[in-house]
Amino acid sequence: MTAINFAVIGYGGMGSYHIHNIMPNENERIHVVGTYDISGERQKISSQHKHKIYHSLEEVLTDETIEAVLIATPNDSHKDLAIQALKVGKHVVCEKPVTMNVEELDEVLKVAKETGQTFMVHQNRRWDPDFLITRELYKKQQIGELFQIESRVQGANGIPGDWRHELKHGGGMLLDWGVHLLDQLLFLVDSRIEKVSADLSYILGDEVDNGFITYIIFENGIRAIIEVGTTNYTKLPRWYLKGTQGTAVIQDWDLSGEMIVDSGKKNIQAPKPIQAGVGLTKTMAPPSEEATETVALPKITAEYDTFYKNFYKVVREQAEPVVKNEEVRQVMVLIEEIFKAAKR
Ligand code: NAD
Repeated sequence: MTAINFAVIGYGGMGSYHIHNIMPNENERIHVVGTYDISGERQKISSQHKHKIYHSLEEVLTDETIEAVLIATPNDSHKDLAIQALKVGKHVVCEKPVTMNVEELDEVLKVAKETGQTFMVHQNRRWDPDFLITRELYKKQQIGELFQIESRVQGANGIPGDWRHELKHGGGMLLDWGVHLLDQLLFLVDSRIEKVSADLSYILGDEVDNGFITYIIFENGIRAIIEVGTTNYTKLPRWYLKGTQGTAVIQDWDLSGEMIVDSGKKNIQAPKPIQAGVGLTKTMAPPSEEATETVALPKITAEYDTFYKNFYKVVREQAEPVVKNEEVRQVMVLIEEIFKAAKR
């Protein structure tokens, strides 16, 4: 079957990353014809890569050789661009966060349904190796039944770029990194959410959040702490996971970390009290060596082109999308709840 001809709308950081790093050109499934960007400077850079340069959105939308567009522009423009593209019969890959809110997303999904075109959101961090490890140990109960998930990304560079500082463009870290971590969480835990509490940080003085912490309780009893920080000069682990039989830590994207699990050995001596500060504690003493085993994190293989391979099959063979619009909608519902909870 023939490759899908793409035009990329928004040749900035992520638009160019798609073209040069993730669109699987080599096996001809996806063919990038050209780019459209409102910035002349970005278009100049794109032309150096021999892409066709579109000078207006109309030019993209009226090009009958184009079957699909990638939308990689600031968040506030996703809705209108997606609707216009779908209405002229293009399939759409849209960057995250899909839209600014649920209402906007529903408008897009209505048009996708009416036109029958494929609309898929690039929730790429479902294939992050650290997340795949978490998913593997959760599914296989390698630390027993998981009951607490702590997922954090932390930097010290503040909010990056220009439009990410502005409310009208959908800036802020909840919509930026938050959407990734929340998508991972909902993809992992198959249970309804019972309670959400949250706090957004405005410590850098921007009109949008420079980070947040949310505490989520699922109906099945799992608790999750999700944290995004841009003012952290030293980090906490990327993942801290507690199960009924052990605890796992994934330190960072380098996948360092370990699982400490109950050895299951009987008749083990109770932990001896240790000196702690100016006091003594048995409660906080480390478990004795025989009581636990240190186990390596599960090995996984990460595939970087899963998204586009699947997109191709969805368009050409009516396969199930790996990122379903209903899942994307649930994440947007949760984001709205987090904004509300933070106000409360
Ligand atoms: P960016 O500012 O680097 O690039 C955006 C580009 O869009 C700019 O070149 C700008 O000139 C252009 N643009 C703006 N409005 C336009 C319009 N109406 N039509 C055409 N071009 C337009 O931003 P970015 O970091 O590339 O982010 C773009 C999108 O990608 C955002 O939605 C962001 O959340 C998402 N993103 C996703 C990931 C991921 O891992 N999935 C990573 C980074 C960014």
